[in-house]
Amino acid sequence: EAQKKQYELQELNAQMEEQQQQLQQQSEELQQVNTQMHYQQEQLKNQSDELRQKNEELLKKQKELQETNRYKSEFLANISHELRTPLNSIILLSKLLVKNDSKHLSEEEVKKAQVINTAGNELLKLINDILDISKTEAGKMELHFSKLHTKDIVSKIYDLFEATAKEKKVKFEIIDEYNDYIVTDNEKLEQIIRNFLSNSFKFTKEGFVKLLLQKSNKQGFDIQISVEDSGIGIAKEKQQDIFEAFKQVDGSITRQYGGTGLGLHIVKQYIELMNGDIKVSSKEGFGSKFTIYLPNKITNDESIQKDDNLLLSKETDNKIEVPSMIEAYVTGDITKNETKLKNKNILVVDDDVKNIFVLSSVLETQGAKVYEALSGKKALDILSQNSIDVILLDIMMPVMDGFEVLKLLKEDKKLKHIPVIMVSAKIMKEDRQKALSLGASDYIVKPIEHDSFIDIVTAWSGKKV
Ligand code: ADP
Repeated sequence: EAQKKQYELQELNAQMEEQQQQLQQQSEELQQVNTQMHYQQEQLKNQSDELRQKNEELLKKQKELQETNRYKSEFLANISHELRTPLNSIILLSKLLVKNDSKHLSEEEVKKAQVINTAGNELLKLINDILDISKTEAGKMELHFSKLHTKDIVSKIYDLFEATAKEKKVKFEIIDEYNDYIVTDNEKLEQIIRNFLSNSFKFTKEGFVKLLLQKSNKQGFDIQISVEDSGIGIAKEKQQDIFEAFKQVDGSITRQYGGTGLGLHIVKQYIELMNGDIKVSSKEGFGSKFTIYLPNKITNDESIQKDDNLLLSKETDNKIEVPSMIEAYVTGDITKNETKLKNKNILVVDDDVKNIFVLSSVLETQGAKVYEALSGKKALDILSQNSIDVILLDIMMPVMDGFEVLKLLKEDKKLKHIPVIMVSAKIMKEDRQKALSLGASDYIVKPIEHDSFIDIVTAWSGKKV
């Protein structure tokens, strides 16, 4: 019995020893796992530190980028301002020479003046294009929705291109099958159509240019607008390239058609912004057709109200407002010896003699008597001694700027009824709003277009405000 017990005990002992061994092995294994885990944890911590650091760097980079974008926009706004003032002289004075009211210029000289005028307008278009591109690229382009009937768009477009069509003897056809209200960014839509049409007329020697507005047959879109022509067409392999900045089919130095190659690039960016689509079909030598597809944001009147405030851009500071492009072609019906401003006394306030000279030259051809002031103080002197019908007031002047002068004028009982037209080369929305809220009657941006300038001054001169 005792032997049996001992045997059992021995057995038990052996089992326990085995278990202990197993336990030890497990504990060793555990320890190994533990060190591994510890190591992994360390690694994870390192990685997370690295990530945090990377994140911080990214944030810093993002901030820097935002800063650069802001500088870029400011820089462009300033550059455009600096370019607009000399362009104003070039465009306005050459236009006066083209009109040749005094009949002193020969036909050849008038032609030269016309070349200067056209070149000035082309430069202006280039400046506006570059501004548009930089704005879309900086994400600052905004959509402004409004409701408009297609027949209004169409009639405006017709007026713009009628003369060109006649001059080029190309059949210009507009078919508005859509014939309904649309809610979209009308200014951009118009710019897009204008761009297509300018190209079509440029590249079409004979035949037709056709603008067609229809209900869209493409899913997800409401309206489709196409511009078709019977011009030179675009080779298949070039049909995508032309949407890139500065890309033209004819890239040679001796190219025949001029232009910048920016128009379609802007169109493409606008279309993307407007959630639309664009298609080109063309056969070299036979003509081209550009079609855009757009959603119509119409549902009910309330939604338009809402859409109006829908800004796609996050940054709303430093907005640049680009005036609509001045058409570079001449209509040829220049009326001579007009005197729309006969016996009107006009005060021009500007710190730059060149600017005063340019505006006076235009106003004097219309029979106005022009008073010149190089500062706000001088302007007030003149006003105290003369009866003035309308004041043209530059905004950027040293010592007392245009806004301060405007404030003084509107505070003065004797002077506040005289209409003040602010003249600025800066295309900032805020400036326009500020001028109007301070009591200015109108606000015009350089470069000033000759005919509309005279119309604006004529409309205000002598009016009591
Ligand atoms: P630009 O007209 O100033 O050169 P765009 O970006 O508007 O710039 O057009 C780029 C190019 O696309 C043009 O130079 C031309 O080669 C081609 N193109 C555009 N529209 C037409 C068209 N209707 N017919 C033929 N070629 C065209």
